[in-house]
Amino acid sequence: MKHSIKEFNKIVIKIGSSSLTHESGLLDLWKMESIVKQIANLYNSGRSIIVVSSGAIAAGIGKMKLPEKPKSIPEKQAAAAVGQGTLMHMYEKFFSEYGITVAQVLLTKEDMVDPQRKTHSVNALSALTKHSVIPIVNENDVVAIDEIKVGDNDTLSAAVCKMIDFENLIILSDINGVYNKDPRKFEDATMIPKINSLDDLSKIDAGDAGSKVGTGGMQTKFKAARIIASAEKTMLIVNSGTPNILNLLLEGNADGTFFDFRG
Ligand code: GLU
Repeated sequence: MKHSIKEFNKIVIKIGSSSLTHESGLLDLWKMESIVKQIANLYNSGRSIIVVSSGAIAAGIGKMKLPEKPKSIPEKQAAAAVGQGTLMHMYEKFFSEYGITVAQVLLTKEDMVDPQRKTHSVNALSALTKHSVIPIVNENDVVAIDEIKVGDNDTLSAAVCKMIDFENLIILSDINGVYNKDPRKFEDATMIPKINSLDDLSKIDAGDAGSKVGTGGMQTKFKAARIIASAEKTMLIVNSGTPNILNLLLEGNADGTFFDFRG
């Protein structure tokens, strides 16, 4: 079964850390440039796009030459502060090659929960997309401590999609989609092309957390799916490592898992 985004005009694209960085933590400029080019092409097709990008902490780890992902909050905050600037610098550089203006939007949980702050967040994002700017959203890791954090960008991107009332969330990941069992452990694992309800979702084992650089794994993707379900929207999980994956989606020829929760 192949998937398409032809029918969607308002799309949130979530890019995971592992889709942007080397194992070393430093940005993989090849991967990043390819993703940016594809997003620029999607934008040129007339669609409104919001990007939710991870990679700040990963880029900070690389830049600060830390031996591993920091565990303490201040160390994580420091890595995010260093890395977020690097990340935006590279997005600016790559998107400007295609004549596209981007904006940094750093959100905390409160900005999506508190009604007044939520209104301000929505207004800012709407003003940006109205002016043909692509917002690049991340959690404000420098000030958001664990207790008040969304904590991962799968959840954040779903919350943004719901809050701004976009039609579809594309999660660009380092896996092809949702499998019936962990494909890293079981050779006979098969991919589930379509999930239509929370009932379908509850029958699948989400396994444990994912890669070395990211925060997510399947658990947070399922959490994102539940938010998308509550908003009666759609979501796709596809592999960012598949060449031209966003173009394949535009052509209706992409593999992955499609979550359709429209009423
Ligand atoms: N906000 C984190 C960062 O930019 C990423 C969280 C996640 O991996 O989901 O590094």
